[in-house]
Amino acid sequence: MSRIYLDYNATTPVDPAVLDAMLPYFSENFGNASSIHTPGQKARNAVETAREQVAALIGANPKEIIFTSGGTESDNHAIFGILQPLLAATHPQAQSPRLNPPHIITTTIEHEAVLNACQAAEKQGAQVTYLHVDENAQVDPQAIKAAIRLETILITIMHANNELGSLQPLAEIGKIAAASDIYFHTDAVQSAGKIPINVNDLSVDLLALSGHKLYAPKGIGALYIRTGTQLQQLLYGGHHQRGARPGTENVAAIVGLGAAAELARKSQVADAARIAALRDHLEQTILATIPDVRANAASAPRTPNTTNIIFPGIEGEALLIALDLKGLACSTGAACSSGSVEPSHVLTAIGLTPEDARASLRFSLGRHTTASEIATALKIIPQAVSQLRALSPTYRKPSIHHSQIGTAK
Ligand code: PLP
Repeated sequence: MSRIYLDYNATTPVDPAVLDAMLPYFSENFGNASSIHTPGQKARNAVETAREQVAALIGANPKEIIFTSGGTESDNHAIFGILQPLLAATHPQAQSPRLNPPHIITTTIEHEAVLNACQAAEKQGAQVTYLHVDENAQVDPQAIKAAIRLETILITIMHANNELGSLQPLAEIGKIAAASDIYFHTDAVQSAGKIPINVNDLSVDLLALSGHKLYAPKGIGALYIRTGTQLQQLLYGGHHQRGARPGTENVAAIVGLGAAAELARKSQVADAARIAALRDHLEQTILATIPDVRANAASAPRTPNTTNIIFPGIEGEALLIALDLKGLACSTGAACSSGSVEPSHVLTAIGLTPEDARASLRFSLGRHTTASEIATALKIIPQAVSQLRALSPTYRKPSIHHSQIGTAK
């Protein structure tokens, strides 16, 4: 059975050109980038080239890029790196303790890498405002402005949502943050490589990206740190990456991230147009041919590759398994916690009932998705839906109207 992979937001395959670029750094060029000898310098040069390539993808200066183990570490570094010195200042034993705890503004639809870091920050004494989003998963920049207090030290808002692909109005938020002199971090793990990003246009001070979402390997990522940002290190060790992120550099993975960034920079506009056309065809055909289905946050500006659809009357998990058995891989946003399936926090945040959230599936396309795969997916999905609905105790009456959630553009 030939398999169709429509789960590129979960992870991407390493691009063959990326793998080719990496391979010599496992064998003949195995040097430690901190060594002074020639093999070490070859590794060092490769790391610095990769830093330039990653910087070029987001319009940054190479000096503003540090390599990390991935999106989770980059997000944690951004949040705790800003917070820790200020938490220390509010400690009663600090030399001149500040009165009020530091405050962070974020949204309810962030990835766990940000949400759980914010919750941990609260346990350490920070205050966090979790702003609500509308049915298109967008936060109102005016609500951010209204949430700012004297103690606000950081605004952390994701660029593209991993479940919906919806984009936040970062440029507007960036202006608000800059006007109030508050650090602005964005989790760009789901947008980097998919759409053009310029850190200056967005006025972000910190930006997280992850290799395995843009055709580089897993376990490598980067954090952009705007020059002048007072960021405390997360890890303590040697002087690698000027002490900002110690640990012997994972040279091959860094080279892979650099090569992937370069590929993305050159191909993202053409890729985006082709992938968006396939995504739109998939989404529109599902909406037109399967009764009673709706697309989530489909009127929001979105990444070109993602669609998230509610199939009422069906458990998303059951549909996912049925599709997998037919050779199609996709995803639910549900999290399995202590044996029960929790509806996605993102889908409930945009106003879905727990039932509709559980009945939703995400299809995310990528660089290697073909028109013939989408044509096959469009045969497999309706079949699986009608088979499961035939067995469903909750699905009874197909109606002729199909609608979309969300209206604003
Ligand atoms: N942020 C977002 C929006 C993500 O989608 C992910 C991964 O799914 C992460 C952060 C975490 O990145 P990583 O898997 O590289 O730790």
